[in-house]
Amino acid sequence: MAFESLTNRLQNVFGKLRGKGKLSEDDVNEAMREVRLALLEADVNFKVVKDFVAKVKEQAVGVEVQKSFTPGMVVVDIVHKELIELMGGSATKIAKASKPPTVILMAGLQGAGKTTTTAKLAMMLMKGNHKPLLIAGDIYRPAAIKQLQVLGEQIKAPVFTLGNDVSPVEIARQGLQYAKANSHDYVIVDTAGRLQIDEALMEELKQIHAEVKPDEVLLVVDAMTGQEAVNVAKSFHDQLELTGVVLTKMDGDTRGGAALSVKAVTGCPIKFVSMGEKIEPLEPFHPERMASRILG
Ligand code: GDP
Repeated sequence: MAFESLTNRLQNVFGKLRGKGKLSEDDVNEAMREVRLALLEADVNFKVVKDFVAKVKEQAVGVEVQKSFTPGMVVVDIVHKELIELMGGSATKIAKASKPPTVILMAGLQGAGKTTTTAKLAMMLMKGNHKPLLIAGDIYRPAAIKQLQVLGEQIKAPVFTLGNDVSPVEIARQGLQYAKANSHDYVIVDTAGRLQIDEALMEELKQIHAEVKPDEVLLVVDAMTGQEAVNVAKSFHDQLELTGVVLTKMDGDTRGGAALSVKAVTGCPIKFVSMGEKIEPLEPFHPERMASRILG
């Protein structure tokens, strides 16, 4: 289960605090030391941990002198509030262009779950009575177009393709025209996923970006890869100005590092989470629910 170890450790720390009628400065310091270790072990970025603990401590120090009957609970509340803040505060909505179609550009490394997420995103939009068009822009991986077509058929969303021999920029351009002509109000452009970030991939993405002028640029990253996912997000964001991150494989036993570090390290919010291989509507990311889940 995701966050299992982090949740257990935090529950331990707070269990000790909750029992106390009064908190000394030593109690707070000891608890914060344990929170710090728990977060580091969950693979949260080291600077993020440092800032987080400093913020909580600053507020918690006042609690010992407060006349609260349950000072431990007050500290837990502070941690809860700061966890929500760390993950971006409130949930964000998918963009909507003032003049349709709204264009969503999908990016990600191979295996992150980009194609699966593209289909889930389309399903989410269809559930909201939208009419998305999927554009097959990954011409490099032999089975990528077929995979998108199969998913498209499964969820009954049309897939625009020009095969493997036309450049992705041209496919995106024609796909967008097709969407306009056929009154699609959302367009999701699937792009090449490669094994690692390389300049050619970035260059091509920038060209597609310039061509379709997306309202939303979503990077799909695998939550199981922890800080590596955060580094990938940072590199993409530096070059492409992402509007959001999708964390996939949150059904797995991720330690939590990516979920807790992405926003603080990149400045870019997590907008959606993917929770399984089965194709079902993508779920918006709710920082407050995630924080509650982490605290158990
Ligand atoms: P792409 O190369 O980025 O397009 O990745 P795919 O969409 O082909 O997904 C790679 C693998 O990860 C496939 O086996 C998917 O079924 C699986 N996958 C994608 N999203 C999730 C998820 O949220 N949870 C789990 N457990 N597996 C996922």
